[in-house]
Amino acid sequence: MIVHKFGGTSVANAQCFANVATIVIEQQKKGRPVISKIKNGGQSSGQSAPLEGAIVVVSAMSGVTDLLISGARAAAEGKDTVCREIKATLLSKHLNVVETLLGHSPERLEVAGHVEDRLHDLELLYRSIAVLGELTLRGCDAVASFGEQLSAGLLAAVLRENGARAQAFSATELIVTDSNFGAARPRMDVTHERLEQRVRPLLDRSAIPVITGYIAANEQGVTTTLGRGGSDYTAAIVGAGLGADEVWIWTDVDGILTADPNIVPEAKTLAELSYSEAAELAYYGADVLHPKTIRPVTESGIPLRILNTFSPTNPGTLIVKSPRPDRKVSPAIISTTGLTLIAVGTEDDSWTLADAVRALQLLSEAGVDALLFSQSFSEHSLNLVVREQSQAHCLHVLSREFGGSVSQSESVPSKRSRTLTKNGYVLGTKEKVATISVVGVPGWDETGIISHAFAALGKCRTRVIAVAQSGTEYAVSFCIPEDHVEETVRFLHRELGLEGQHG
Ligand code: ADP
Ligand code: ASP
Ligand code: MG
Repeated sequence: MIVHKFGGTSVANAQCFANVATIVIEQQKKGRPVISKIKNGGQSSGQSAPLEGAIVVVSAMSGVTDLLISGARAAAEGKDTVCREIKATLLSKHLNVVETLLGHSPERLEVAGHVEDRLHDLELLYRSIAVLGELTLRGCDAVASFGEQLSAGLLAAVLRENGARAQAFSATELIVTDSNFGAARPRMDVTHERLEQRVRPLLDRSAIPVITGYIAANEQGVTTTLGRGGSDYTAAIVGAGLGADEVWIWTDVDGILTADPNIVPEAKTLAELSYSEAAELAYYGADVLHPKTIRPVTESGIPLRILNTFSPTNPGTLIVKSPRPDRKVSPAIISTTGLTLIAVGTEDDSWTLADAVRALQLLSEAGVDALLFSQSFSEHSLNLVVREQSQAHCLHVLSREFGGSVSQSESVPSKRSRTLTKNGYVLGTKEKVATISVVGVPGWDETGIISHAFAALGKCRTRVIAVAQSGTEYAVSFCIPEDHVEETVRFLHRELGLEGQHG
């Protein structure tokens, strides 16, 4: 049995839902030769056996989770109109799928009614947040969970419309976590039991379970989430819990490539990676694979594939315990945009490490992911890279602790955008940024990838704002101005000689 996970881009609109349904039905019928882990413990050997059975894990439609969370934040600030507009956008986005794909289905009214009911519940939740005037992490998870619940319901209906027996499941009934809202950790023992009790019987009847990605619930049944981009992790948890033969992550590119192919069209797919190589890539690439995905599959020796929903016959990237010894190894560049740089500090030298710890603690409690942070000895401030969508929330949280109003000047480098707050602290956004991570592999070059990456960046004359290096010395992340990301990625790809490489 194979767990198929479809990301937000794979279910971006009605056409994409139809495409996903075709893939799932084909895969369920014929299966595709998969590596026999029983024979060799996840080792790539070329031996294969066709296997049947499919479980689907699905993300929210592209952009929906961002919208839901912005609505929750707007509700907390009393911006009622924003919440109403968001609800209307979500309604038309999801109903469009119903009208386009289920227009003649006997289920049409029921499915449309379900979408409307769920969005009515969302409206009520927004109102409660508005009354409270604050958004807790628990409230944020409750709001964020709507996206996957809607998409799973739609996909199951589209599959049924295409002749498959499919049933949607909310992972709040299947995956049991602790109460660490925003980044909950699964309890595999109870989760395993629930998957066996509720999902296994469907598989035995050759039906297709369609499970919500990203969301779960604690032991009291309160909704939690696994962290942004967490549907990949859900697929790995489900795969490990049910002893899947393989876990396939379907996305919008041909696997993990030497660079984002949207920027470098000639980038090559890394055909095979080991679990530890993939973990390093995932850890430094915020998007391409959720970093926690690797552990559950590693523990069970389950092969993982990254495949392209829009080019399903492409072999993609295979991640196994022991890749073929004769494969070519190659570094990869992972780039992430849509980020912003925030600085908090003091004008004089009174900024201490304890202040930095306090700032990071506050952000963690407020559910803001700092994708990268840096503090040098000479600077009296902490630089934080957060998603642009979290910028206002992040400034709000920090300004409560560090006092005063904050400046929000975009694209203004360095100190000019800073504001002196009343307590002597300085807080402000600096500019829109991107991160570029260069992740190497052991044995690629004696001196390692990091010195090559620095040399290449020097030649490219890119302004580097912050740097973070991995302890393994195989990876380095640079924070650069967002408008330089494409030329820098293209330059690095050429300069590091990745054009001729392939896995
Ligand atoms: P999904 O919606 O399927 O979860 P994501 O947007 O989270 O997809 O991740 C896939 C995206 O990662 C690609 O569309 C691509 O823009 C980006 N990406 C950045 N660097 C790379 C890389 N080296 N290889 C593949 N994808 C990359
Ligand atoms: N929908 C969630 C997010 O946007 C989870 C995911 O897409 O993997 O973060
Ligand atoms: Mg993703």
